[in-house]
Formats: sequence, C-alpha cells, structure tokens
Amino acid sequence: MRSLIWFRRDLRISDNTALFEATQHADDGVVGVFLITPKQWQEHRDANCKVKFLIENVRNLSNRLAELNIPLLIRTCDDFQGAPSCISNLANETGCDTVFINREYEVNESRRDDRVSLACEQAGVALRRFHDRIIVPPKSISTKEGKFYSVFTPYRRVWDSTARETITTSPQPSLQPEIPIKCDPVPETVAGFDFSNTRSDLWPAGEDEAQQRLERFSQNISAYNIQRDIPSVRGTSLLSPYLNIGAISARQCFVEADRILESSAGENEGAKTWVSELTWRDFYNHVMVACPRVSMNQPFKPKTNGIPWRTDEADFAAWKSGTTGYPIVDAGMRQLNQTGWMHNRLRMVTAMFLTKNLLIDWRWGESYFMSQLIDGDLSANNGGWQWSASTGTDSVPYFRIFNPFSQSKRFDPDGLFIRKMCPELRPVPAKALHDPAKLTAAISNSGIDYPKFVVDYKAGRERALHAFKSLK
Ligand SMILES: Cc1cc2nc3c(=O)[nH]c(=O)nc-3n(C[C@H](O)[C@H](O)[C@H](O)COP(=O)(O)OP(=O)(O)OC[C@H]3O[C@@H](n4cnc5c(N)ncnc54)[C@H](O)[C@@H]3O)c2cc1C
Repeated sequence: MRSLIWFRRDLRISDNTALFEATQHADDGVVGVFLITPKQWQEHRDANCKVKFLIENVRNLSNRLAELNIPLLIRTCDDFQGAPSCISNLANETGCDTVFINREYEVNESRRDDRVSLACEQAGVALRRFHDRIIVPPKSISTKEGKFYSVFTPYRRVWDSTARETITTSPQPSLQPEIPIKCDPVPETVAGFDFSNTRSDLWPAGEDEAQQRLERFSQNISAYNIQRDIPSVRGTSLLSPYLNIGAISARQCFVEADRILESSAGENEGAKTWVSELTWRDFYNHVMVACPRVSMNQPFKPKTNGIPWRTDEADFAAWKSGTTGYPIVDAGMRQLNQTGWMHNRLRMVTAMFLTKNLLIDWRWGESYFMSQLIDGDLSANNGGWQWSASTGTDSVPYFRIFNPFSQSKRFDPDGLFIRKMCPELRPVPAKALHDPAKLTAAISNSGIDYPKFVVDYKAGRERALHAFKSLK
C-alpha cells in the first residue's frame, strides 16, 4: 500500500497528523504533492510576500521529506477547479491507494476537498481527512443547547478544559522505503506574483526557524502580558506567518505554553495570556465554520449592513499609504507596507481608525490587509476586522472608539516606534506626538513635511457614533 500526502497549509514534518497517518498506512512508500494555484491565490488577494514565503517553505519541506525518502511532487493548476482531477490522477499514476489531507476550514477550500473526495472515489482511491490546523477542532465545542458559542469568554472556558483533556501530538514519521519517484524542483517564481520587493530576511523559511522562534519566545514568555502591546519591543512570538502556513503546529505551541504554565502552578501570566491568543485563533476558525457568511463578505451582525459606509477613495489612499496625519496610524500602515507584518495593537488601531474615524467599509480594509500581510489568514483577518468595525461576533462596542493619540501615549510613550516608521517626525518631541494641537504646532514651526489630519478627530468620531446609533 502506498500513500499520497497532499500538503496545503501544513508545511512541516513535526506533529503533522496527515503525514504521520500516511506513513502508518503505507508499506510501499509515501509520495507528497503540493499544488500551486496562482489564479486562486490572486482571487484570494494573497500578498506577494505571503506567496513567496509559502514557496520557500515548500522548498524547505521538500528537502526535509527527501531525508525520509518521501519525494515531493509539484503540480500547477490555475485554481481549485483543477484539483479533483489532478489529485485523483496523480494518486493513480503513482500507485497510491489513499490520499491523506489535513482539513482547511474556509468555504472554497472545503468545497474543493469535497470535490476531490468525489473524484477520488470515482477513481477508486480513498481520501482521509484529519483535523490538524487548530488546537480544538471546529464544531467540537457547543453550548448545552447544542448551539455554537458566539462569545469568546464562555467559549474559552470550555476550550481550556477540552484542549487539556484531548490534546495529542503526532510522533515523527519514520524513514520510508525508497521508491522510484523523483521529487520535482520547486519553482523560483509564481505567475502573477512579484517576489522582488519582499523582506524575506525578516522571515527565514522553514520548520527549524519556527522551532527556534518558539524556543526563544518561551524563554521570555512570562513578560508577554506586559510587553505584547508595545510595538517598539519584540514582545510577541512573531510566529504568525509560520502558524499560517503550518511550518509549526498550533498544538505544539499550546503544549509548550501549558508546560510553562503548569511548572509555575498556573502563575505565569504571560503564558496564560499567550494561550488566550492561541484560543482567539481557534475561536475565529470556529466562528467561520459555524457561520460561513463571515467569509463571504457578510458581517456577523446582519443589521450592520445598514451602516452608510463611505467610499472615499482619497481617504482610503491616505490610510493605505500611511499618510493620514495621525502618527500611530501612519506608523502601523508603514510597518505593514514595508515588512508585510503589523503589530497586533496597531492592527486594531489602524482598523478602527479606518472603520470608525473614516467610516470606510471594513471590507476595503480587510482586503487591503490581505493583499499585504505575510500572515494573511481569512479567519483571523476577518475576525480582527469585524471586531474593530463592531460588525462581528463579540466585537468591540461601537461607542468604544480608540483615540489614536491616547493609544500612542499609552503604548509608544517615547515615540520610539513612531519615529522609526515615520522618520520625518524624529525632530518632534514625544509629547507632541500624542497631542493634536502640539503636533500641528511642532510641524508648522519646524517646516516638517508631514500630512495634515485626513479627518478631524471629533467630527469623524461623531459621524461614526451617529451612523451606528441610527441603525434600526
Ligand atoms: C484587523 C486585524 C487583522 C488581523 N489579521 C490577521 C491575519 O491575517 N493573520 C493572523 O495570523 N492574525 C491576524 N490578526 C491577529 C494578530 O494581530 C496576529 O496574529 C499577531 O499580531 C501575530 O503576531 P505574533 O505571531 O507575534 O502573535 P502572538 O501575540 O505571539 O500570538 C501567537 C499567535 O496567536 C494567534 N493570534 C494572536 N492574536 C490573535 C487574534 N487576535 N486573532 C487570531 N489569532 C491570533 C496568531 O496565530 C499568533 O501568531 C489580526 C488582527 C487584527 C486586529
């Protein structure tokens, strides 16, 4: 018996359920495959840096699999339509009787897998699917009435005990017998994506890098709850791109944090808070599966469709380019544009600024983030945007609008981060960075080339409050 393991966003060897099961099933070798689907990735608005990172990780994986005698084949089809015939034919051509996959929960991806399952059945090949992407699989937690949890805190309570009771990680897969199939070269380019201006130096590819990041972060995890909101400090794990393409398993991250938590008799606040963030990742997947409309451009709260979102291209362009005149917003957007990643605090600040102060449709922002982020993930991105726009499940109340100046005063008091990302503001004293009147005076006195406010703070705030209050 020979297995075909189809890798998607599980590009690792350690703790990979489908890979381990594929090796257990086989006695005549295992074949791997990765599908490149350029048109589909473009439709999903995947960022250049994200696709480049993905391909680099596929290359890394291919080398690691070769050490286990598992050749990785590369196939290209424009979009998911081509997957059913590609996978079922490949299984037959390579003599594999069973295809192994780890589930992806997005609508397009799960429909694709249903079609692949059918094609395999018709070709006399079995398809086995596993839960592997998150810590507690979607649909395995529900309320006493059998409904899905739409609020995080009660979900988290049940999640905590379920995770501890049910978690199992997969053993390392064993060396396979050699088979006469050669691995394919991994391409250097993907049609429609430009790899030239991406900061790969910040995000080295591979499972080893992800493991090292987890190890480094674990040593400092106790400071996480204090440092995680300060963008000038490396206070978070910087694992999101790796978790997103599956270069490391979320289960392993949880097991590590839980080990630290247990050894501190539950006192390590940093580890506790980090587990909570991993739970948000699970939660947004759980919401997406229970309520698929959120991944189809619809708000979780249908009545917020009545908000008269503005379609002001000029304001949107200022936000995208980090030229709104609000230093912390501009610093965040420039970090995104320059590095492909943005600090979580700033994702909230910039998303709230767009959807509240500028009253621009959250879907515009969600799509722009996706087109730039190296860790772009439908469920987390959508969850974060709908949280910030107050259209989502358990989202911020519409009247709690972040004041960008109070946010920067609290989380970047010395202006270290602002000055790094907006070098033209270096001569401005820290106090003025957090005070609109002082900022305006400092800029005009010293002739600094920095934009005027794209919107008056109070007027923008009132406009948003009015729009939400007027909802029927
Ligand atoms: C508007 C907005 C958009 C976002 N878009 C994405 C996205 O596309 N992809 C993405 O991975 N995260 C997204 N997030 C969540 C969060 O900002 C990032 O996961 C985090 O900044 C990644 O940095 P880190 O790996 O150092 O995180 P850490 O603080 O070390 O957290 C560990 C891991 O937990 C998960 N996580 C942390 N916070 C959240 C959260 N609020 N929601 C879901 N998962 C979380 C991530 O996988 C992260 O890597 C978004 C948040 C907002 C407010």
